[in-house]
Amino acid sequence: MDQTFSIIKPDATKRNITGSINKVIEESGLRIIAQKRIKLTTNQAEKFYSVHKERPFFRDLIEYMTSEPVIVQILSGDNCVERYRAIMGATNPENAENGTIRKLFALNVQENSVHGSDSTENAKIEIDFFF
Ligand code: ATP
Ligand code: MG
Repeated sequence: MDQTFSIIKPDATKRNITGSINKVIEESGLRIIAQKRIKLTTNQAEKFYSVHKERPFFRDLIEYMTSEPVIVQILSGDNCVERYRAIMGATNPENAENGTIRKLFALNVQENSVHGSDSTENAKIEIDFFF
């Protein structure tokens, strides 16, 4: 069974909407097969988003991702990497399609409520990082 890695981000845990997000995930047919609530350390967040370390928003992103607890999750289902990216919607909620998690819940391009792996290869790396 295909798996992907998800994070429900600090803006969502802070607003107490993790259940609403899980409802969208489960109604799409994807299955939450593991999840835990953790507070990322600066070191973990920097490693996780190291691909973005040269970007102007990197320091802000690390501060945000360590500001409140997150829920890290393993999702399963056929083609779940692509399916979860579709359910999440575009990075910037202004560009996200109706019904997507980011359209429904995200506050802005940074506080965009969820992360999902962008490839099967990265899904495996990210799952191994947290589980
Ligand atoms: P994620 O990797 O979190 O699933 P993504 O793949 O849609 O999101 P990326 O380009 O990988 O988007 O950016 C990683 C995260 O960095 C975004 O989800 C968002 O929180 C933040 N981010 C991206 N672009 C910007 C920006 N222009 N300004 C501020 N924050 C940004
Ligand atoms: Mg990304």
